[in-house]
Amino acid sequence: MQNQPPGILESVLKLKEEANRLYQKKSYTAALGVYSKILDNSGTEGNDDVKEFLRTVRSNRAAAHIALGHYAEAVEDLQHVLSSSSSGHNEGSKAPIGSPFATTTRKSYLRLARCFCELGKFDDATKHLDAHRDFVDGMRAPEEDELREKVYRDQQNAAIATEDKTVPLKYVVKIMQSTPTAPIRLYETVPLSLVDTGYPPETASNQFLAKLVMKHDAWLLKQGPLSGGAWKCWSCRKRATGIVHSFASFLNAYVDGKEPEVIDFAQPVCVYWGLCDREARRMMQEEMVLVINPGRRWQIN
Ligand SMILES: [Zn+2]
Repeated sequence: MQNQPPGILESVLKLKEEANRLYQKKSYTAALGVYSKILDNSGTEGNDDVKEFLRTVRSNRAAAHIALGHYAEAVEDLQHVLSSSSSGHNEGSKAPIGSPFATTTRKSYLRLARCFCELGKFDDATKHLDAHRDFVDGMRAPEEDELREKVYRDQQNAAIATEDKTVPLKYVVKIMQSTPTAPIRLYETVPLSLVDTGYPPETASNQFLAKLVMKHDAWLLKQGPLSGGAWKCWSCRKRATGIVHSFASFLNAYVDGKEPEVIDFAQPVCVYWGLCDREARRMMQEEMVLVINPGRRWQIN
């Protein structure tokens, strides 16, 4: 056996070679079994060579876990590898590139980044890629560059997937007229990312509400009682040419297991930005606070 580190039995070294061979042959479960056998039969005592040897075995077992999609198990092994050290080396400390310690540490950072990426923990993935870069003193490594690109791509795709997922939304329009009218109920969908939190992101929510109203405004304007479906101005009762929308938004009802709801207090106005329009906006600003204050979960715009 070449370069046999003192303190390690030849039979154990052979087991490691066997496991590596199985891994190369893509017999990952078998490789995993042999790596585990070595680790299970080794104590925690031993000289630095023994410790270093076991770090490598554990890091290789993590690679087998990764190949099998066991990312959580791999994380556990890799964190163990990175927190264990032989004398003179602590986590993150420098070591001659190419030394067994440096090689195992480098590979472990990269494997850990890969695991976190697969687990959707992109910040953790980037953190370990940065740790890798520090460890090699900023030297460019193709494996690191490839992984960075993968993290970026997967993160983008994850964001798109979240955006695409939607849940049903009740959109209730209460049109203000001198003679009360029944609310108009519309059924829409809302991105999951806006409703699965107790505190909906404000900008995204406002953009969503703006799109919602733009989508239905022209149609709503033609659902009134006058000829051509016009409404009466809420204030002067002339023919309305536009609608002022004020929202009470209950997007986060979803968190309590209820259907998210947006209530639109719609005031038909004779002239946009005319007196009745301005009065509508002023009044709603005051009214909305009264209507909504009792509830904890609310948002208006
Ligand atoms: Zn008017």
